[in-house]
Amino acid sequence: MLLFETVREMGHEQVLFCHGKNPDIKAIIAIHNTSLGPAMGATRLFPYINEEAALKDALRLSRGMTYKAACANIPAGGGKAVIIANPENKTDEMLRAYGRFVDSLNGRFITGQDVNITPQDVRTISKETKYVVGVSEKSGGPAPITSLGVFLGIKAAVEFRWQSKRLDGMKVAVQGLGNVGKNLCRHLHEHDIKLFVSDVDPAKTEEVKRLFGATVVEPDEIYSLDVDIFAPCALGGIINSHTIPLLQAPIIAGAANNQLGNEQIHSQMLAEKDILYSPDYVINAGGLINVYNEMIGYDEEKAFKQVHNIYDTLLAIFDIAKQQGIHTNDAAKRLAEDRIMNSQRSHSKAIAA
Ligand code: NAD
Repeated sequence: MLLFETVREMGHEQVLFCHGKNPDIKAIIAIHNTSLGPAMGATRLFPYINEEAALKDALRLSRGMTYKAACANIPAGGGKAVIIANPENKTDEMLRAYGRFVDSLNGRFITGQDVNITPQDVRTISKETKYVVGVSEKSGGPAPITSLGVFLGIKAAVEFRWQSKRLDGMKVAVQGLGNVGKNLCRHLHEHDIKLFVSDVDPAKTEEVKRLFGATVVEPDEIYSLDVDIFAPCALGGIINSHTIPLLQAPIIAGAANNQLGNEQIHSQMLAEKDILYSPDYVINAGGLINVYNEMIGYDEEKAFKQVHNIYDTLLAIFDIAKQQGIHTNDAAKRLAEDRIMNSQRSHSKAIAA
C-alpha cells in the first residue's frame, strides 16, 4: 500500500502511528477531517492479521465518521483508532499508554468504546486523557436515542415513499431485539404498527411478543416477509446478494452498522428492486448525537431535539438521490461533503475578512 497516496485519495488530515515498548503497544489513530469540529471516533482493539489490515480499517472507519457527523449536523469531524492486539493481552498499562497518545493530540481526537473496548477500559483510558466519551452515566446509554432516531427515519422513509405521515396499520419486520431493537419496537407499537420480529435469543422474542404483541419468526424468515419496512437491528452485512432477492419490503430502515455487504453492488441491486434504502450511518446517528452531547455537558432535551434532525436529513438525502439519479448511500455522502465544503468556505471567508 502506498501510504501517502492512499491517505491523500481518502482525504485524511493526519494518521498517527503509536508505538511503545514498555508497555508494549501498537495503535493507529486516523483523523480524517476536522472542518466541522474535533474528530470523534471510537477505539477498536483487534488482532488484525497484519498492519495493512489495521490501517485500512482505521482509514475506512474514520472517513465514515466524518460523513456520519456531517449528516447528523453536529460540529464534529471523523476519526477512528485501532489498537493492534489480542483481547487476551489487553492490560491497563497498555490502555493508559494509549490514553497518553490520545492526550498528545490535545482534543483534535475524541474517542470512546468499540469492539473489544469496554466501558471500564474507557474509564482506564480516561485516567490519562479527558478526551474520551461514554464514561458519563448521565445519558443512560445511547440505545434510547438511537432507537428514536431510527423511528424518525422510518417516518421520513414512509413520507418520501408514500407521501403519508401515517404509520398506523403498517407492518414492520425488526431483526434483532437488543438495546436498540426492543426500544424501536416500543415506538412502533405506540403508533399501532404491526410487528414481526426475530432474534437468536428466544427470551428476547418472548418478551417483545408479550409486551407489544409481536409475531415471532425464525431468524432466516425475517427477510422474506410481506411487510412495508424491514428494520435490521442486529448484524452488519445482512443486505447482500443472498438476501436481496428474498426481500419484499419496499423500505429498509434500521440501526445496524454496515448493513450493505458491498456498498456499490448491493445499492444497485436494491435500486433495481425499487427498495428505498435509508443509509445506516444517517439513520443510526442517535448514538453519536448522544456521545457528542455527553461531551459538551449532557442536556437530555437538547440531545433529543438534535436527533429530530435525522428526519429532515433523510428526507433531503432521498430527494438528492431522486433528483440526481444516484443511490441513497451516495446522496448521503454528497450531502456530507457539501456541508463540510460550506463550512470550509465560511471559515476561509472569516479568515480573509
Ligand atoms: P445488541 O447487542 O444489544 O443487540 C443485538 C441483538 O441482535 C441481540 O439481541 C442479538 O441476540 C441479536 N442477533 C444477533 N444475531 C442475530 C440474527 N442472526 N438474527 C436476529 N437477531 C440476531 O446491540 P444494539 O445496541 O441493540 O445495536 C444493534 C445494532 O445497531 C448493531 O449493529 C449496532 O452496531 C448498531 N448501532 C447501535 C447503536 C446503539 O446506540 N446501541 C448506535 C448505532 C448503531
